[in-house]
Amino acid sequence: MDSINTEVTDAAVTTSPQYFDSLDPATNTVIGTFELMDSGAVAAVVARARQAAPRWAGLDPQERERHLLSWSAWIWRHRRELADLVHAENGKPVSDAVLEVAMSLEHLRWAARNAARVLAARRLSTGSLMANHAAWLHHLPLGVVAVIGPWNYPVFTPMGSIAYALAAGNAVVFKPSEYSPAVGRWLVQAFRHAVPTAPSGVLELVTGDGGAGAALCASGVDKVAFTGSTPTGRKVMQACAATLTPVTLECGGKDAVVIAGDADLERAAHDVAWGAMSNGGQTCIGVERVYVVEAVRNDFLRLLGAALKGVRPGSDEGAHYGPMTTAEQAEIVRRHVEDAVARGGRVVHGSPDVAAGRYLDPVVILDAPEDCLAVQEETFGPTVTVTTVRDVNEAVVRVNSSRFGLSAAVYGRRDVEGIARRLDVGVVTINSVIAFAAIPEVPMGGRRDSGFGRIHGEEGLLAFTRSLGVTRKRFDVPGFELQRLQRGRFPMRALSAVTSLRQRAPRGGDRT
Ligand code: NDP
Repeated sequence: MDSINTEVTDAAVTTSPQYFDSLDPATNTVIGTFELMDSGAVAAVVARARQAAPRWAGLDPQERERHLLSWSAWIWRHRRELADLVHAENGKPVSDAVLEVAMSLEHLRWAARNAARVLAARRLSTGSLMANHAAWLHHLPLGVVAVIGPWNYPVFTPMGSIAYALAAGNAVVFKPSEYSPAVGRWLVQAFRHAVPTAPSGVLELVTGDGGAGAALCASGVDKVAFTGSTPTGRKVMQACAATLTPVTLECGGKDAVVIAGDADLERAAHDVAWGAMSNGGQTCIGVERVYVVEAVRNDFLRLLGAALKGVRPGSDEGAHYGPMTTAEQAEIVRRHVEDAVARGGRVVHGSPDVAAGRYLDPVVILDAPEDCLAVQEETFGPTVTVTTVRDVNEAVVRVNSSRFGLSAAVYGRRDVEGIARRLDVGVVTINSVIAFAAIPEVPMGGRRDSGFGRIHGEEGLLAFTRSLGVTRKRFDVPGFELQRLQRGRFPMRALSAVTSLRQRAPRGGDRT
């Protein structure tokens, strides 16, 4: 990028910083106070990362791997401390937080261990016209990558970009949500503790609200990896358009489950209960819609009701999920349930009157009209709609008609892979939900309003590199010089003969 100030000067740092508090959603107590960074402060942080980037990129890949594995091991040794912090700041049960940490570290380890292999320079074939040349493809670090994350999985979600960007040799500036800055700071400090010999500035933190995120997009970073809502994703893309900064957008979802007539209904019911309600439904790839074929609808509903029996929110040890992390999100859930019921949806589990406050009980709504909010918009709460369909074909049409296309699941036995391929989403699980998130090699990302670009796996590493093609002339071929202002007759005859041979129509093809 041009016009980057790589000097960290006092003038770049704001003189009168402002601060904000991060609150425990269960108790409203203050967890920590953080700087509300303005564009000057953000620029200073980016400049530190900019200085570190060449040193990190210049390390031997095995050394980067060792650093990242040390960070991973350090986090796991301190998992209880991190899980307690996630519980306090986000509200989810500690055991869910430990699961989130374990899944995140799967990605960190995979990225660390596979970056050298995936990004190794590759010799390319040069073809017949340039046979006297050699060619290579390199995947080189971009420089400084900005990772902007949401609050709902404050470890897993950003790690899906941070781990891969670092493993690919980039410095990273991480901006956690204003609802999860303490977790963000913990992760960055953990890196410094775990790998004190890594170049300082390799993983930096920006704290603040949307303004800090916007400043980061405009700061001249080499890529923005954004995870968050679709409306904010649009703003990020707009801001990045000004500088042609590339973006990956991991946005919202309205994930659906298709239940065929030959599905294992008990398994489907348990998975839907967990996929819809865990984390209070605040999961981008959580289950928000179910399309079940008529023949098994009643049995499925009975089993779903049984799976949800006794499931409740709370902040005690026995609670299945916590409070809604933000008060605004609780309001959205109430609005969606109210609208679905007013428009003919029937609540078959829970109450149509969603309680006030942040602790929301599970709600299952049957046959709400397709154009109601609870089917169209991301609810992000402990609710799920169940819609009866004639057959799987109708289910596929309905899944695909959503403006969101993050992931989906199919339950059944016959031709389930065929059904999966007909779903216009980023990832499909068969006979399970969400499983792909814990499989580092499966790329994750959306279609339509769920965003574009992929994180995780090989694609997730490549996303944080620039391809560089290099060719080298190995020897001259006297008399066959094509790259000349004046060519003799021989090279043109030879060219014509070689190209005619190569461009013959395929056997049985159109030879006219
Ligand atoms: P938001 O879109 O509100 O915020 C996401 C991040 O963007 C936050 O760090 C936020 O900062 C920041 N931000 C806000 N405004 C701007 C701006 N103008 N420019 C740059 N950054 C900005 O999402 P939520 O935090 O509410 O997260 C929930 C959403 O995330 C849901 O829609 C969910 O589906 C989605 N999500 C998607 C995932 C995926 O992989 N596809 C995974 C997890 C969640 P601040 O919070 O400080 O305002």
